[in-house]
Amino acid sequence: MTGDMLQALTFAADKHRDQRGKDRRLSPYINHLIDVANLLWHTGGVRDRDTLVAGILHDTLEDTETTPEEIALAFGETVLGYVQEVTDDKSLPKAVRKQQQIDHAPHKSVAAAQIKIADKSANLHDILMHPPDGWPQARRQDYVRWARAVVSALPPVNPGLEAHFASIADRADREL
Ligand code: ZN
Repeated sequence: MTGDMLQALTFAADKHRDQRGKDRRLSPYINHLIDVANLLWHTGGVRDRDTLVAGILHDTLEDTETTPEEIALAFGETVLGYVQEVTDDKSLPKAVRKQQQIDHAPHKSVAAAQIKIADKSANLHDILMHPPDGWPQARRQDYVRWARAVVSALPPVNPGLEAHFASIADRADREL
């Protein structure tokens, strides 16, 4: 399992190599994926190999040139299915994609729901600690509201991750 996670991190680090986070420090994108893996493992107690690997790969289809076939070949069909579940349809306008994340949330698998909570938690943490350049307060607050709407529409899957998300969203409401 650890070997598979390292393989996924190596794969994702290569695929995201030209991307940086939105924050001022322009963190390497891989930091976000390490955050998500840490949240799944430590906060959520997740030990399912496919969930952990898909968590690391969750942005590859949406944000890089990675093809579904590459993921299936390297990590298997189950991992590919989970990554596809958490991938937005980029042919749609942003507002539609954001609404779809809320509308589709109740139908997510346990694995996809856990990945989404970890992803939104990592994003909220980044917005609190390292706000993206050019994001005025209202936009940050909007993000918090939307993230809460997505997470609360997911099926209940992992009390540890859910409690962690709630605490960071509460903190964001107080501090933003
Ligand atoms: Zn992400």
